[in-house]
Amino acid sequence: MLKVEEKLGRNVYKVDKEGHIRINQEICRAKCVPKYCIFVCPAKVYSLDEKGDVHPNPDGCLECGACVIACLEEALDWHYPKAGFGVQYRFS
Ligand code: SF4
Repeated sequence: MLKVEEKLGRNVYKVDKEGHIRINQEICRAKCVPKYCIFVCPAKVYSLDEKGDVHPNPDGCLECGACVIACLEEALDWHYPKAGFGVQYRFS
């Protein structure tokens, strides 16, 4: 039986250079202390830099929407990738 990481590794991503996740850094810095997006994302899309700012790397996004729900301050601008882009699940 495959582990979750092995299943995720089979996914194929077609990356949209424009990206589909943006963070309003003013809101994020001023209002959000817990940075829940970092902890809820199963694909580890979000990371903190040395200043404590959150940055997305949407290339591996699974399009689950958990980060949008977790962002209580509504600092995330998230939408599905354009048609033909994003994740293609390859579970087998
Ligand atoms: Fe991570 Fe899901 Fe948000 Fe994509 S939609 S960045 S996989 S939490």
